[in-house]
Amino acid sequence: MAKPVVAIVGRPNVGKSTLFNKLIGSRLSIVDDTPGVTRDRIYGDCEWLGHNFLLVDTGGIEPDTNDIILSQMRAQAEIAIQTADVIILVTDIRCGVVASDYEVASMLQKSGKPIILCVNKCDKIGEVDPDFYEFYNLGLGDPFPVSSVHGHGTGDMLDEVIKYFPEESEEEQEDDEVINVAIIGKPNVGKSSLVNKISGMNRAIVSDIAGTTRDTTDTHIENSYGKFNFIDTAGLRRKSRINDDIEKYSIIRAKMAVERANVCVIMIDATEGFTEQDSKVAGIALEQGKACIIAVNKWDAVEKDGNTMKEFREKLANDFSFMSFAPIMFISAKTGQRIDKLYEMIVFVHSQNSMRIST
Ligand code: GDP
Ligand code: GDP
Repeated sequence: MAKPVVAIVGRPNVGKSTLFNKLIGSRLSIVDDTPGVTRDRIYGDCEWLGHNFLLVDTGGIEPDTNDIILSQMRAQAEIAIQTADVIILVTDIRCGVVASDYEVASMLQKSGKPIILCVNKCDKIGEVDPDFYEFYNLGLGDPFPVSSVHGHGTGDMLDEVIKYFPEESEEEQEDDEVINVAIIGKPNVGKSSLVNKISGMNRAIVSDIAGTTRDTTDTHIENSYGKFNFIDTAGLRRKSRINDDIEKYSIIRAKMAVERANVCVIMIDATEGFTEQDSKVAGIALEQGKACIIAVNKWDAVEKDGNTMKEFREKLANDFSFMSFAPIMFISAKTGQRIDKLYEMIVFVHSQNSMRIST
C-alpha cells in the first residue's frame, strides 16, 4: 500500500538537505550506481518507530520560475501540498522568523495539511534560545528545536510527524487477482494518452475511486485479460503547470506510483529515443524490484524501414542493460497499436515476478 509521504519545505540554507540526509541516514538505495538515479536525490525511504514513510526534500526541486526565492518557495510549497501527508517547514534559529517564512506558513496552512514547524540549528542542548519563542508567531503551534547537523531534536519531531499518518485500517482492501500497474515516464511521453486509450478501448468497467490518504485516483479495468488497476491516473490526467514543467516532481510521482505497483510500464518516447530521465524513472522501478515492461510509445510517428524496430530494440537493450529482464515493446497510445499485447505482457511479467518472489 501507499507509504505516507513527508515533505520538507523551507528557505534556502535553513538546512533542509542536512535534515533530509540525517533522517535518511545510511538507508540510501542499493542501486546507487544506476545511471542518474541518485545524483541529486530528493526522496528517500525512512523509518521511525515501525512507521515507514517516503521523505521528500522539495529544496532539491528547482522549478522553472524566475529565481526569486519567494516564487521558488511557493512552487516548492505547492508540490509539498500536492504530494505530502505531512509537511515539515524548516526555519533557522540564526535568522529568526523572516517574511517569506510567514508567506509560506500561511500558504501551507490554507492547504489543511498537517504542518510540523522545525526550528533548525538549535545546536546547544539544554538551553532554549530566547529567539526560539518568536517562532510561535508563525501560528503553526509548538515549534520543534532541532539540530540537523547533530541530530538533536529530530526524534521528538518525528514522534509528532507520525501522529498524523493515516490509520492502517483506513486502507482499502486488496483483491489478490487485481494487478496494480504504474505507468511511468517523463512528461509528454504519452502516459495519460495511454490510460485514456486503455479505458476507452475496452468495453471495460472503468471507475474512479478516490484514494483514502491523498487525492489520487485509480482507474480500474476488467477485461478478458484480467483485472487491472492503473495507479494514480488522476495525477496523469490532471495537468497542472507543476506536472508538466518539473522533471523532479514527475520523479516523485513515479516513486509514489511504483510503491503500490505490481507491474511498472516504463514509457519511452520513440521520437526522442532514450534519455537520462528515462533511466532515472526506470531506476525507481528497479530499486523496488518490480516487474517491468519497457514500452516505446509514439511508434506511429516513427518513419520505418524493414530494420527500424530491430535497430531500435538493440540500441534500447543496450541503454537498459541494467534491467535486461524487462521486455521491450513498441506501442502507440494514439492509434492503440499493440495495446492488447501490452495487457498480455503485463499479465506475463506479473506471473514471472510472483514466481521469482515466492521461490
Ligand atoms: P538547504 O539549502 O535548506 O538545503 O540547507 P543546507 O542543508 O544545504 O544547509 C545550509 C547550511 O547550514 C550548511 O552550511 C549546513 O552545514 C548548515 N546547517 C544545516 N543544519 C545545521 C544545524 O543544525 N546546525 C548548524 N550549525 N548548521 C547547520
Ligand atoms: P504525459 O505527459 O506522459 O501524460 O503525455 P500525454 O499523454 O499528455 O502526451 C503528450 C503528447 O504526446 C500529446 O500531444 C499526445 O497527443 C502525444 N502522444 C501521446 N501518445 C502518442 C502516440 O502514441 N503517438 C503520437 N504520435 N503522439 C502521441
